[in-house]
Amino acid sequence: MIKKLNIGCHLTVSKGYEYMGKKILELGGNTFQYFSRNPRGGSVKELNHADIERLKHIMEDNDFAPILTHAPYTLNMAAAKDETYDFAKRVFREDLERLELLPGKLYNFHPGSPGDKGREWGLERIIKGLNEVVFKEATSTILFEVMAGKGSEIGSSFEEIKYLLDNVDDKEKYGVCLDTCHLYEGGYDIVNDLEGVLIKLDQLIGIDRVKAIHLNDSKNPLGAKKDRHERIGEGTIGLAGIMNIVSHPQLRDKPFFLETPNEEDGYKKEIALIKEILNNGN
Ligand code: FE
Ligand code: FE
Ligand code: ZN
Repeated sequence: MIKKLNIGCHLTVSKGYEYMGKKILELGGNTFQYFSRNPRGGSVKELNHADIERLKHIMEDNDFAPILTHAPYTLNMAAAKDETYDFAKRVFREDLERLELLPGKLYNFHPGSPGDKGREWGLERIIKGLNEVVFKEATSTILFEVMAGKGSEIGSSFEEIKYLLDNVDDKEKYGVCLDTCHLYEGGYDIVNDLEGVLIKLDQLIGIDRVKAIHLNDSKNPLGAKKDRHERIGEGTIGLAGIMNIVSHPQLRDKPFFLETPNEEDGYKKEIALIKEILNNGN
């Protein structure tokens, strides 16, 4: 029996929404992730409604899994500088408003880096900012991405993610995005003890709150906290480790998104490889 897998990769929005829908089908996937705007910048194109309608049709006709919108990297909701903080809040609010018009209703962001202000200060800063910009009518689910813990990054432990989930207003609007590279580099041994990591995740957060998984191998060893993605099977997690995750009964129905260092052709090969092993292997 062919096992259904919801998988896609990161695509660029610059050629429009319909284009991404067609592109991911060409690459063998049924979902994709894209940056809401230039990952470094602020400005954003006006939405083209006809283009969005065409993507909606592609999604309906091809049994898509939820697509994932990723906030720009420059959005730092824990920023110490008011200017940076205000920029983050403005972009976040604008993105959430735009998402109301788009077929994807998952908005993923990096919780933020408070610099030398410290973790507790950073956590409170994020919560305050979110409570200011997440409006009541918003129907999207906002995902905290679990981070590798580079620099002062918040969100590299399940405890911190839990703290955020427990302390924002409108808790039902929030969920979690796992990233396999970040987990591993953050010190969670998903290679030798996936079961143990998932038990901890379930106890603290609940696996049902995981709405998306970034599927990446890692260039660095367990706990390195550097955040360097590697191609599937070429890193420290390895192909067996990746397949273990994709085929795990508690994870296998989630949407997976490749963010590996690849061009389109490389993504196509990785999607095909993972599907093939999943269907022949176990
Ligand atoms: Fe990310
Ligand atoms: Fe990621
Ligand atoms: Zn990363």
